[in-house]
Amino acid sequence: MARIAFIGLGNMGLPMVRNLLKAGHSVVGFDLAEANRTNAAAAGATLADSPAAAVAGVDAVVTALPAAPQVRAVYVEAGVFDAMPDGSIAVDCSTIDPETARAMSAAASAADVSYLDAPMSGGVGGAAAGTLTFMVGGSEDAFRRAHPLLQAMGKNIFYAGASGAGCAAKICNNMLLAISMIGVCEAFALAEKLGLDAHKLYDISSTATGRCWSLNDYCPAPGPVPTAPSNRDYAPGFSAALMLKDLRLAMAAAQEGGAATPLGAHAAQIYALMAASGGSDLDFSGVLKWLKGELGSP
Ligand code: NAD
Repeated sequence: MARIAFIGLGNMGLPMVRNLLKAGHSVVGFDLAEANRTNAAAAGATLADSPAAAVAGVDAVVTALPAAPQVRAVYVEAGVFDAMPDGSIAVDCSTIDPETARAMSAAASAADVSYLDAPMSGGVGGAAAGTLTFMVGGSEDAFRRAHPLLQAMGKNIFYAGASGAGCAAKICNNMLLAISMIGVCEAFALAEKLGLDAHKLYDISSTATGRCWSLNDYCPAPGPVPTAPSNRDYAPGFSAALMLKDLRLAMAAAQEGGAATPLGAHAAQIYALMAASGGSDLDFSGVLKWLKGELGSP
């Protein structure tokens, strides 16, 4: 069983730590927030006083941090790559841009350790159930070595390609998800104006050509899919704020790579307007409320 340092013990990190411990690994945790440190200790992790202290003598480091600046702060500025034992692996599960992931991989190589970008999907529920999907970029050898750890926290583990490919997969997928969710919400908003019952639209479109995950599995109109956030007043789930973060990463990558993503750009504008109307903390399917004018004005 492996000795693992886990840095970033927040909404995703804490349940992931629980699953690593359940699989028999030992975990040394670090987080800046005292409450999150306390939760991880209660779950059975040992606590360290700094990121560099956490990684001394470990086989692998897992990080679940908010965004690219925190990933750089931990691995480079706080000296994690330098403090990791030679030959050990860093698995970064944060959603960041592919360019930062490639820069982190280069910094890791210079310190004789490996770095995988391994962003995840499945949300807090998937993290708790150990059913996350991981999309992984980096060397195939490091991927093989990290696989047992990822398996302790997730169900579907994909090798996406060289460094940065995991992040690329994540931001492409989430751009597609945002666009499809807005499309489904527009259909429900239009149906209401046309006097068509939401359940009828669901029954028809979920078996016709309009079917997609945003409709069939996560219906933004309350009723047809009992497990969907629409049935609990859009408590996330996956918040509009996190979707906006991912769309901004996608738009920056599209601009840099010269890709045409007009609907992605429009989706980013819509989620920014939803956030400005007070909808940041709602589930991203709550964009239906924004379309119907049920949130505040921006
Ligand atoms: P979170 O804000 O709940 O947790 C992040 C943790 O990192 C916090 O506990 C924070 O105190 C800690 N932290 C920040 N800077 C730090 C530093 N310099 N050193 C140590 N700890 C630091 O976020 P989350 O919801 O757990 O998400 C983590 C990552 O996973 C994000 O990149 C997010 O985009 C991605 N993600 C989240 C979800 C979701 O549904 N929450 C789903 C998929 C992917």
